[in-house]
Amino acid sequence: MRISYSALNSYQICPLKYKFQYIDKIKTPKSKEAVFGTLIHSTLNFIHTPAILAPSMEQALDHFSKNWNGDVFADELEERAAFSQGVDIIRRYYNDNDISKINIVALESSFQIKLGDHVVNGIVDRIDRTEDGYEIIDYKTAKKMPSQEKVDNDVQLTIYLQAFLDRYPEERKNLDKLKVSLYFVKHGAKLTSTRTEEDLKNIENKFLEVIEKIGESEFEPVINPLCDWCDFQNNCPMWRHKFKEERKIDTKEVNEAIEEYIKAKDDAKHIRTKIAKLQNTVAEYMNQEGVERVFSENGIIARTLKKTYKYNENKLREILEPLDKWDAINKVNTTALKNVLATLDNSVKDQIEETKELDKESFAFNIKKQ
Ligand code: SF4
Repeated sequence: MRISYSALNSYQICPLKYKFQYIDKIKTPKSKEAVFGTLIHSTLNFIHTPAILAPSMEQALDHFSKNWNGDVFADELEERAAFSQGVDIIRRYYNDNDISKINIVALESSFQIKLGDHVVNGIVDRIDRTEDGYEIIDYKTAKKMPSQEKVDNDVQLTIYLQAFLDRYPEERKNLDKLKVSLYFVKHGAKLTSTRTEEDLKNIENKFLEVIEKIGESEFEPVINPLCDWCDFQNNCPMWRHKFKEERKIDTKEVNEAIEEYIKAKDDAKHIRTKIAKLQNTVAEYMNQEGVERVFSENGIIARTLKKTYKYNENKLREILEPLDKWDAINKVNTTALKNVLATLDNSVKDQIEETKELDKESFAFNIKKQ
């Protein structure tokens, strides 16, 4: 299989999004975020393109302004805000960097790496020569910055480093001097990390698994924080119904059922809270009076003490194991397993995840307030 890094990434975020974009090839207009991000990338590329004299800030702003596309914004106010944000990014970039001193080896350089029988391709924004090694940089126009831990485990950077090492295999011995960075241009902040041999090996296995899954055609929708920016909400079973024009007009009965269901669940929640409060008041009275039943014209409330017992696991095991019956009753405690998982390495976590098998399927209805 030949696949781009962005396609692989898309599958990892949401397999259904991947299907819409890369298999069904549904055409969607470019979002304003995508258009803005592309122009910022192109301006940074313009700034660093080798020339006798590096472009001045005014020339970079001129490039940005000449290539500006205001059509994607909802109104003038939104467009103006985005334009001035772009200007701020470029100004800050010039303030924070001495352009003429940056030693660039590659800009927007395309790569291909082999993973088993597959080829993954993509584009690296920038590779710099540093004092003692190299730095691979990916520009980000996102507002939110990730934690250092996330950058240390960022899959994209590891893939980019692998691509770099395919091109410069002699640099493998200097792995600790090869930096990988995400440059958040809106904040003017760069988060930097390095990778180990083990990281590189793990990423290969991980991606081979993802490619295999794509081959098995598993395209479940996965709701995630990027859904708000997904161009396929109109097609997605998780969101399609949100768009009034997509709803069938002859479903009055269903629409009423939806409204009533939400209201009934709301009422049930209030009643549960009310019952708990009333129960407390009655229980306090019973304690005070030393009675276990209270009477009214509508009925009798009686309370009974319920005790729940649990078996001592070690003692139980001692008895059942010699009888060869222990395995038959020993079910995995998922809560305990979750706590243990939090303490394990990612590779062990992945192995444990792989042991999961489908047990049974059922639907749960949850209500989320808009
Ligand atoms: S809207 Fe969310 S769940 Fe639906 S396809 Fe897009 S990313 Fe996936």
